[in-house]
Amino acid sequence: MNMSRRDFLKLAATAGVISIAPFKMDIMKVFAEAKDYVHINWLNGAACTGCSVSFAQSADPDVIKILTSITVGNSGLPIALPDWMYVLHPASGSLGVELINDWINHSGPGKKILIVEGSMQQEGFCETGDKDFREWVKNCAEVTDNIIAFGSCSAFGGIPHAKGNVTGAMSLQDFLREVGMDDKAEKIINLSRCPGHPDSLILTLASLIEGVEPELDSYNRPVAFYGKNIHNEQCPYRPFYDRGIFANFGQSEQGCRFKLGCKGPVTWTDCPTRRWNDHTAFCIDRGICIGCAEPAWPDGEFGPFYTELPSLPTVLNIPAETWGTAFVGAAAAAVAVHAGRKALTKKKEEKGEE
Ligand code: SF4
Ligand code: SF4
Repeated sequence: MNMSRRDFLKLAATAGVISIAPFKMDIMKVFAEAKDYVHINWLNGAACTGCSVSFAQSADPDVIKILTSITVGNSGLPIALPDWMYVLHPASGSLGVELINDWINHSGPGKKILIVEGSMQQEGFCETGDKDFREWVKNCAEVTDNIIAFGSCSAFGGIPHAKGNVTGAMSLQDFLREVGMDDKAEKIINLSRCPGHPDSLILTLASLIEGVEPELDSYNRPVAFYGKNIHNEQCPYRPFYDRGIFANFGQSEQGCRFKLGCKGPVTWTDCPTRRWNDHTAFCIDRGICIGCAEPAWPDGEFGPFYTELPSLPTVLNIPAETWGTAFVGAAAAAVAVHAGRKALTKKKEEKGEE
């Protein structure tokens, strides 16, 4: 591909790239060249660490391979990029706290990127070392150049923020506004989904390292990954929907998943084309889309998961069920006409007519 890395990253940041595997070498170069220049700090709030696992399991390119193939100077020793990451970093305990403080106090040349996984809770529910997690995030946000909220808990509150919410969990953006850091909140990059998709983080990081700011939607999500509606623009099961053919529990696996509770009509992500697990499948192939990337998820119209949306989206202003009836009716009529023609032909043959 005759495209500079900068062009590619611009493309990834604005138009979306389905598979990033062909750009593996470009991405590795970006990270390798950034080793002394970019300082990444990955903090974990109220979360299940599924986003860290999702990132670590990125298959092509393999993130662990990227991190271990970048060596420190001529030593041959692999560096651990980010500077700190709770789940993957070899350090822990007081050494981990020291590394976060080093990152905060680092004043040399270069860029600082803060990644937060998990939602923010009220004081007293989450502590790291001798400080409340809220304090850590505030201190880190003050000195960073870019902030990425990775996964739906961090981007929109996610599961900890769901109805009941005993810990007062909220999104990173709401937290930053609450503590008066509106300027930081405005520029946050939200990479929602539960868990976050590794491609979205790798491409966003590579873009920021190259100095390309991704174009964001009204929820601060990169348009490249969240610019298209699943149901209207991408779902491979849409032809079933248009013909009124629906999968039903215990009856038929074939068909559109709307009646199983699919939230694709109210969800904007590139899951059907980017897919998951090394680009092999996505949720609707195995069940339904629960809408995990949307701000109101998992409440509002997104819950309970296996409940139909209150109304069927229309096709050319006609409900899909009507299309279904019309389709079945038309098909039945076509079968009847075909049978009639066949019978007529048979009679003619018996009479010896042409
Ligand atoms: S309802 Fe779900 S499965 Fe059906 S076409 Fe829309 S997105 Fe696809
Ligand atoms: S298909 Fe839907 S539920 Fe699955 S990851 Fe994408 S947005 Fe989330």
